[in-house]
Amino acid sequence: MSLKDFFIALSENQTLNSAAQKYGFKLGAQSVVAGTNIDEVIESIKHLNAQGISCTVDNLGEFVFEKSAALAAKNQISAVIERIHSENLDAHISLKPSQLGLDIDFEFCYENLREIVALANKYQIFVNFDMENYARLHPSFELLEKIHVDYDNVGTVIQAYFFESGENVERFKDYRLRIVKGAYKEDESVAYQNKADIDRKFIEQIEYHLLHGKFTSIATHDHNVINHVKQFVDKHNIPNDKFEFQMLYGFRKEMQLGLAKEGYNFCTYVPFGNDWYGYFMRRLAERPQNLTLVTKQVFTK
Ligand code: FAD
Repeated sequence: MSLKDFFIALSENQTLNSAAQKYGFKLGAQSVVAGTNIDEVIESIKHLNAQGISCTVDNLGEFVFEKSAALAAKNQISAVIERIHSENLDAHISLKPSQLGLDIDFEFCYENLREIVALANKYQIFVNFDMENYARLHPSFELLEKIHVDYDNVGTVIQAYFFESGENVERFKDYRLRIVKGAYKEDESVAYQNKADIDRKFIEQIEYHLLHGKFTSIATHDHNVINHVKQFVDKHNIPNDKFEFQMLYGFRKEMQLGLAKEGYNFCTYVPFGNDWYGYFMRRLAERPQNLTLVTKQVFTK
């Protein structure tokens, strides 16, 4: 088993997830998660906004199989929207359909999402549906299209590693899209496994949406891709207000600031909440070097 597969398997372990919540916010998670409650995340957003960086806020939550947990997540996300509005922050929402009940009941999830999007729409705040594993891809797209009939402040993520990512980016070209490489362990019958193939598809989908789409969020820590995009937008005269770069909270902080200082729109993905375990394990799976974050935290205690 590779190190990547090992951390992905850990991210999917519910027992460890519960234990992590019980035993606290340790093991380096605080380097990449902006606190466990709303007040803490609002402080982080203010700090980033002051540096010219906008934010997308993710109230972490996984393994939601009870309606009560999905309703609690809806209330918490709604409270974040109210704070973004009342404190006039430069921020929007990222959420996962499974957190709002996708694995419980499609209609129930739809109602929850619709309520959140309607509230955000009242304040002109954008809501992004993060994309999870392949099993949830098409139900999530359906939810998005159903809600988009009445609200245009919604968009989603295209995961370039799927064979079908080209069709998906075309299908959603009229939406604001975040393009990523893809973070989950997917079967070779549906997704590229090889880094070179994934990188090639990533560039392809980014270029397509920059040329044909509404607004593109290029979400990556890969400097080669970022440099390529800089040259591509120059060559095709794509204005700065048609795209932004996104990175995760706590990663490549100097580069995040640098891009904002160069005059590019930059948005940091800011996760917070008690349910940080799965998110943190997926970050370790992507880049085992992040383990240095863990060891640093452990040894500086
Ligand atoms: P990688 O392929 O991980 O890295 C490429 C190269 O960049 C590395 O070889 C290294 O040279 C350099 N590099 C990368 N990270 C670092 C670092 N920390 N320090 C120094 N150099 C580094 N995935 C989903 O499936 N669904 C989502 O909804 C989703 N949303 C996301 C939102 C944001 C804002 C971001 C940034 C990612 C999101 N992802 C999502 C995760 C994404 O799919 C990738 O798994 C993740 O971003 C890792 O790929 P990468 O493009 O950053 O580059």
